[in-house]
Amino acid sequence: MRKCPKCEKRLSPLYFGTACKYCGADLLYYHFDERLEQDAQKAAAQEEKVERLLNKLPFRRKKRQQAIKPNP
Ligand SMILES: [Zn+2]
Repeated sequence: MRKCPKCEKRLSPLYFGTACKYCGADLLYYHFDERLEQDAQKAAAQEEKVERLLNKLPFRRKKRQQAIKPNP
């Protein structure tokens, strides 16, 4: 169910206007903004997860040691 992000009144999913019919909020702008923020948060969380996972892997540490001492 679509909801107005400003006044939080329910809008019909079949309502394709770009402005809330109750408060006149620009729905396109609001939704776009919200989506961008969610994407950014998701990306940041994903990056953190990958980073943590990589830090757990032993080969990464080995690689770093090899980088410090290239000739054993
Ligand atoms: Zn509204």
